[in-house]
Amino acid sequence: MRPTKLKRIKTAVLASSKSMGLFSAMGRSRWRTDRLLILGYHGISIDDEHLWNPALYMSQDALARRLELLVGNNCSVLPLREAVDRLARNDLPPRSVAITFDDGSYDFAVRAHPVIQEFGVPVTVYQTSYYSTFNRPVFDVACSYILWKGAAQRLDGEPFTGTAGLLDLHTADRRAAVCRRIRQTMLREGRSAQEKDVLLDRLAEAVGVDISSMRKNRVLHLMTPAELRRVASAGVDLQLHTHRHRVPMNRELFLAEIADNRRFLADIGQPSTDHFCYPSGAYDAAFLPWLAEAGVRAATTCDPGLATRTSPPLLLPRIIDSSSLSDVEFEGWLYGVSDVLPHRPVQRSVALTAESTR
Ligand SMILES: [Zn+2]
Repeated sequence: MRPTKLKRIKTAVLASSKSMGLFSAMGRSRWRTDRLLILGYHGISIDDEHLWNPALYMSQDALARRLELLVGNNCSVLPLREAVDRLARNDLPPRSVAITFDDGSYDFAVRAHPVIQEFGVPVTVYQTSYYSTFNRPVFDVACSYILWKGAAQRLDGEPFTGTAGLLDLHTADRRAAVCRRIRQTMLREGRSAQEKDVLLDRLAEAVGVDISSMRKNRVLHLMTPAELRRVASAGVDLQLHTHRHRVPMNRELFLAEIADNRRFLADIGQPSTDHFCYPSGAYDAAFLPWLAEAGVRAATTCDPGLATRTSPPLLLPRIIDSSSLSDVEFEGWLYGVSDVLPHRPVQRSVALTAESTR
């Protein structure tokens, strides 16, 4: 993918700022010390997921490089809870950073966690729970991944959308449209998670994709409760991300999502869950009193920026890091320089969506 014009200009500005010493000056400034950088990660590839979705996945080597940059630039990597508390008290150390992972996918246990342990940095995983117990590929993302792998094929829509006719998978836009139609069909027909899981096999077969290796290697699966207990006992903080990766616009349903998710995490052995991350970064003003009612003290979005003492605690900005961010852009965020440059509009792309399960 070619970088956008804005990205090219920003990269040039960042590179010259770095060479002129502006990075280190800003990094030492009171302005940066008063701010907290919260990093958000999604997946670390087991196979080729970063080629399918570079906006959400990166390779294990790329994650190790990020942690090297954090250490090499003398950042203060704090546990999320401590970081948010110290932000409120105006007591942050220089270049403070908190690291978060969304969804709690299996690749966290086998790809991210070994690197995190090697560097000894604290992390929080915002864990969605439905697909942890029902441990199959998460339907919506698996559907998109299978269509990407089978992009050279044409697909008869009838078994998947209820409408006969060939579906074109040759471009990302067309695959996204096919994916949306399949998801909408599943929703309309009230298909269960089990039925959708069977449909994945049929979809893979129809586009000539070997789904057995995806199932065997647990690509796009979540961590099981046993795996979650293991990473939690190694010091990983598990926090709220809703049970079914959705934020209903109805108070009772919204609170039930938090309660089910919290009960699941308590069973894993996480006694205190009062931090939350909006699934897919989607939020609404209506959620704020509901989160407060549920005892949530802090919540993160996917809106880019550094958090300040005046940021609303239930709408903390966060940098979603992925293969699409270059080293100098990443370092620009560590030092705070990127915060003063124009940002691209927020993209609330759906990560793991486990909705309409029943
Ligand atoms: Zn998520």
